[in-house]
Parts: sequence; structure tokens; C-alpha cells
Amino acid sequence: MKVFNTQTRRKEEFEPLVPGKVSMYVCGPTVYNFIHIGNARPMIVFDTARRYMEHKGYEVNYVSNFTDVDDKIIAKAIEEGVTAQEISERYIAECKKDMEGMNVKPATTHPLATQEIDGMIEMIQTLIDKGYAYDVDGTVYFRTKKFKDYGKLSHKNLDDLRSGNRSLLVTGEDQKEDPLDFVLWKPKKEGEPSWPSPWSDGRPGWHIECSVMAKKYLGEEIDIHAGGEDLIFPHHENEIAQSECCNGKPFAKYWLHNAFLNIDNRKMSKSLGNFFTVREISEKYDLQVLRFFMLSAHYRSPLNFSAELMEASANGLERIRNAVSNLGYLLENAPAGSASTEQGTEKDSGAPMAQNTAAGNTSVSGQSAGMTAAEQAEFANVMAFETKFDEAMDDDFNTADAIAAIFELVKYANSNVSAGNTKAFIQAVRDEIVKLCDVLGIIAEEQQELLDEEIEKLIQERQEARKAKNFARADEIRNQLLEQGITLLDTREGVKWKRA
Ligand code: AMP
Ligand code: ZN
Repeated sequence: MKVFNTQTRRKEEFEPLVPGKVSMYVCGPTVYNFIHIGNARPMIVFDTARRYMEHKGYEVNYVSNFTDVDDKIIAKAIEEGVTAQEISERYIAECKKDMEGMNVKPATTHPLATQEIDGMIEMIQTLIDKGYAYDVDGTVYFRTKKFKDYGKLSHKNLDDLRSGNRSLLVTGEDQKEDPLDFVLWKPKKEGEPSWPSPWSDGRPGWHIECSVMAKKYLGEEIDIHAGGEDLIFPHHENEIAQSECCNGKPFAKYWLHNAFLNIDNRKMSKSLGNFFTVREISEKYDLQVLRFFMLSAHYRSPLNFSAELMEASANGLERIRNAVSNLGYLLENAPAGSASTEQGTEKDSGAPMAQNTAAGNTSVSGQSAGMTAAEQAEFANVMAFETKFDEAMDDDFNTADAIAAIFELVKYANSNVSAGNTKAFIQAVRDEIVKLCDVLGIIAEEQQELLDEEIEKLIQERQEARKAKNFARADEIRNQLLEQGITLLDTREGVKWKRA
């Protein structure tokens, strides 16, 4: 598998630090509002990278933070007359709902900046002790000139940046030794959330949180660090400086950055006001369509949002789901076993299907049990689509080509699988489409509605769980039903239920 490393500016063979395991850190959102679909791009593309690595058999430890202390959060709290914590908790919960809608898996750990202050103070102290940071009246700065590799990720000309930022030294930031020095800790202003520290009652700078959380949850050296390309400088450059100077080790082996989601060819952003929230999009489209749209382009290519492209994505997704549903129909109606051959049906090629004489002959895969010999041979063609899919994903997560491979498989299924095939073959082709879609986080199967009897059975089980004081299981059942749009009403006559 090859990945494009921003630091070396080339595609490199991916070799994790520990064979079979991947440690991955993705910078998460600052939570002061609903996320927009620009923020959704890194969530979707790096969730897909994670899923693909899991598909390849890696165990992925995926960490993504929520920045829950920040100027914008504080400003919003003041505007609403509530605490900053109330704002961040509200939008973390909303963000998680959006992630679920987009089928983005929860991270292994979602740390919160405000819960990691001790670790930040510790890292800042180490940097001061080693001479990489200095305190001026309660504000601690990182001494960029002391870190020889500063700028290695962004390949920026630091002298140009320095002279371009000279003005900083005369406009309020005159305490700094160098215009490129950045804040690690700052004293509180009136009314702001703050924590005690050796330097002042205050709060951490933004960059330090990611260095600390990556170290705590993944270790001093990690495999992949990712985020949107606007984070390359200064955020990721500064993370490298902090982590490498503190730990004395290289920080991340591979740096991955997604290009922007644009609208009218300009970056979608809160500050420009040219954004759609994920929530707004969900009112018009199934969020699976949004996911499909995001994956229809390579993650390093800019992607322009438009209603036409969303329509095209909706149609593409529909084409895949129709194929899966047709295969499901064939499956329901196909006779059990290899009955079709008993009916003497012939394949498109005209070659008669031989009776499966070697049930359990798994020359292609375990799935081939129950297929006719001809189908078993044919199944190699089906597997070739998976090879194509894997080759695309192995090439720096080329999801556009991976989707093209799924479309080819769908086309194959539409024209080659018929009622004349065995259940085993139909099932295997259907499973293959569903599986490849699942690697991309695309749900290709219609969600089955629960039947009335199944609901009654679950309610019964919930009653028994409650009687046995197993409230965790009782809640789990209630939530499971809720996800299916079924609400329970505990009445004097017993439990009643209704569909939303
Ligand atoms: P923020 O909340 O602004 O720190 O952003 C959270 C994540 O979304 C970061 O990885 C950003 O790089 C990314 N991001 C923000 N806007 C866009 C955009 N228009 N296109 C792609 N990624 C974006
Ligand atoms: Zn970060």
C-alpha cells in the first residue's frame, strides 16, 4: 500500500512501526457550532482510510480529538449567556449524530482538550526545561529558532515568513523573541475558563493539545497523522516541533492531508459564510449520498460542491443499491442448493452449468461451497473486481477508482447473474458488492424494517431484563428500537409501542 506523505512530497510504501498495527491521529473539529460539510471531508476520507486498513487486516488505533476550549467557543458562550462547557458538550453531541449519519465510525478514543490539561502542563514544562520554550509574564512561547527542523513539513521559506510577520513584534506580540514563536500557554482574560499552572492561571494554546493527546493515546512515535491541508502550517508544523523537542524522537511517519471542499471554487468555511452544515444537507439527502459524493474524488484533489454532483452521487448510489436489491430478490426466489442446474439453465456464455460435484471445493474461496463447478470458475471473475478495488485503494486511497471497480462489479452482476444461478453464487456476488461498499463506509443494503413479531419479542426480552434488574440490557433494547424509529410507552396496561 502506498500513501502520499506531505513531508516527503511523494508516495511511499506504507510500513507501520509495529507490523500489523496502525496508530493514527486525525485532528478533529473545534466545537462551537454544527459541523459544515467541509469539516466532514477529513472525517469521511480518513474514516475510509481506516476502514480500508482494517479490511487489509491491520488493527487500527484511531484517535481524533474535539477541541473544546478555544476563543470561538468562549465567544459563543458569552453570546448565549451559558458556559463554554455547555456549548462544547452540545456541539460534540451534535457532531457525533452527524458522524453516525455519515457512517463515520467512532474513533477508538475521542479525547477532549479540557480533560488533558495536566499532560499539557507537563509537556510545556519539559520544553521549558530543555530550553525549547520560555515564559514571559505568564505566557509561554515555543522557541522555533532552537528547533533546527522547523519548517520540514510545510517546506515554507521561514526567512520570508519571518520578515512577513515582523509586524507581529510591534503589535501586541512584542514579547516574543521571534515572529514565528507560538503560544503554548496563555493567561486567562476575565470570564474565561482557566486552569492553574506554574506560569499563570490560564489555558493551553491550540497546537499543544494534539501533541499531548497523540502521545498519551498512541505513543511518542505514530504511524499516520492526518487532517485538512489548511492544518499543514502552522498547526502540524508546530505539533512536530513540540513533540520532537519534548520526546527526542520523530513524531509521525506519514503525514496525510485532504484538499478542500470548495463551493464556487472557494474553500467552504465558517468565516466566509459560504457553508452548508451536515444537518442542512441531511434534510435534502440521505447522508450516504454525501459520503458517496466525497469519495467520488481523490482525497488530495479539490472537490467542488454542487447540486448536480450530489444528484449524480444519488444516482450512482441508487444504481448500486438496486443491483443489491435485485440480487436479494433473486436470492429469495432461487431454489435452495444448486437447484437451477437441475432445471438445466444455461449461462450467458451458452455453456451448460455443470452440477457441483465438489461441494466444499474452495479453489476460489470458502464462499464457493454450494456453487456449480462453472460458477466456481466464474467466481474468479468476480474476485478480479475486488483485486481492482484493492489496487485502487492501495494507490494512496484512490476511492474514485475503487468506486469505478464497484460499478464494474454491479454491471457484471446485472448482466451475468440470473434466476438460473445457485443461491450460493447469487449470495456470493451480493456479499461481494456489500463488502466492498462497506470498506468505503457505503451501506448498500436496504435497512430491513423490524417485523411486528420481532418488536414484540424484543419488548418481552426488555421486560425480562428489567425484572432481572439488568437495566443495561433493557436500555440497550430500548435504544435499538429507537434507532429503528420505534418508541416505547410504559403504560399501566403494559408496554405499548409505536412507529415514528
Ligand atoms: P476546524 O474545526 O476548522 O479546525 O476544522 C476541522 C477539520 O476540518 C480540519 O481538519 C480542517 O482542515 C478541515 N476543514 C475545514 N474546512 C474544510 C474544507 N472546506 N474542506 C476540507 N477540509 C476542511
Ligand atoms: Zn491537531
